[in-house]
Order: sequence, then structure tokens, then C-alpha cells
Amino acid sequence: MPKAIFVDTSRCTACRGCQVACKEWHGFGAVPTRQRGSHQNPPDLTHFNYKLVRFNEHKTDGKIQWLFFPDQCRHCTAPPCKDVADGFVKDAIIVDQPTGIVFYTETTKQLTIDQCKDITEACPYNIPRRDTDSGKLTKCDMCIDRVQANMQPSCVKTCCTGTMNFGERAAMLELAKTRLAEVKKKHPAAMLVDPESVSVIFLITEPKKMYHKYVERETETGPLTRKALFAKLARPFGSITG
Ligand code: SF4
Ligand code: SF4
Ligand code: SF4
Repeated sequence: MPKAIFVDTSRCTACRGCQVACKEWHGFGAVPTRQRGSHQNPPDLTHFNYKLVRFNEHKTDGKIQWLFFPDQCRHCTAPPCKDVADGFVKDAIIVDQPTGIVFYTETTKQLTIDQCKDITEACPYNIPRRDTDSGKLTKCDMCIDRVQANMQPSCVKTCCTGTMNFGERAAMLELAKTRLAEVKKKHPAAMLVDPESVSVIFLITEPKKMYHKYVERETETGPLTRKALFAKLARPFGSITG
């Protein structure tokens, strides 16, 4: 059965336990860092930070409003990153059929730097990052080793606020819809982000323009049309159906 993560940002306290748990599970060590004028640290996703709690700060009615977004790969149900990668190295990126997890294999090392850029460009959420030492293209693997052992992903297991939830995709969609109805009473602009096309479903409380640039898949009229077109063109000819 396909799995999914539901991320209810209305409950996030930005403790960053999920960010640290992800690093720990994948054996990524601590790196020196510094305050750059934001609590978002590191400033962006890296090949050793698959999870990043993003901070957006706004002044509303004279009060500071902080929005937290624990970003990661959305495990798209039809991943454009795979579409593009298959045009370069077949099955460097695979979809694990039982779970729906989008998994980057060791053969991503065969991709050139420019090909990796094209794949990142095709991702609506700007997620993949290249490891310059190994040459591997990387991102969140939904802790596939844990999931296959009937365990929760590390970030979900660590989160104690109810922000991160994991289970069957259908159940997570139901939970997301239930929570949306509740959250809308206090935050009328609350919405689910691309729920039909991803398996990491975010609930945000405010209009998407108040978050980072890649919070939501852009519409057909937006600049991602070119990316979508590129992804389609990269598919084998017979599979370009619409
Ligand atoms: Fe938010 Fe949970 Fe991550 Fe803490 S562990 S930052 S509450 S998602
Ligand atoms: Fe691929 Fe990006 Fe979708 Fe993740 S979010 S599956 S990296 S296209
Ligand atoms: Fe990291 Fe696993 Fe969470 Fe993905 S699911 S962000 S790999 S801890």
C-alpha cells in the first residue's frame, strides 16, 4: 500500500528535532554554522540536510508572525525528477512500488553536473542536491529502510507535537482533510499543498505567498510550464500522452 507523510504546520514549534533526527539516521555529522540573521539554519537544503525547517517572518497588525515549514521531498506520485533522469541514466531514480517512495540510487553518480542541474530544475519544489564528493544526487528517501522494517520515518518518530504523521496514503489524506476543516476555523486561508499529486502532504495556515518560493507546485501558466514540458520531453516517446 502506498505510504504518505502528513505535515500539519499549524502544530510546528520549529524545535528542529526532525531536522536533527534525519541527519542522525542517515549518519550525517554536525557541521560548523553561524547565525546569518535568521533562525533557518543551514540556509538551504544540502546533500547532508534532507530536512530543513524553513522560517518565514512577517509583521501583521504590528505583531511579528513566524511561519514554520519543515521542508523535504514530497515524493510526487508522478515524479518529474525521475522523468528527466530516465532520459539520462535509466532507473537512476526509481519508485518503490509497494510504498510509492521515490528513491535515488547509487547510479545517480553517473549523471553529469549539468544533468543533475536539469533534474533539480524539473523538481517543482527545488529539492535534489548533488554531493560534490561522491557525485551522487541526493534527497529525502522517506527512510525507506525504516519503512520496509515497519518503522516510522525518523523525522516522524521524533516529532512530539503531532506535526509529522505517517501511514497509508489514503489514511493520511483523510487526516489532512479533517485537520484542514479544524484549522480553517482559526485560519480561513489554510490549505493543503498539492494533496493529489504528492505523498508528503503539507497543511499551511496562511496564503502560499507568505512562505518560501517553492512551497507549492506552480500552475500551468507559471514559470514551471517549461520544467513540466522538459520533463515530458525527457520521457520515452511512447509515454508522452498528456
Ligand atoms: Fe516542527 Fe515537529 Fe520538526 Fe519540531 S520536530 S520542527 S515540531 S515538525
Ligand atoms: Fe522528485 Fe522533487 Fe517530487 Fe521529490 S519533490 S519526488 S525530488 S520531483
Ligand atoms: Fe529525513 Fe527520513 Fe524524514 Fe525524509 S522521511 S526527511 S529521509 S527523516
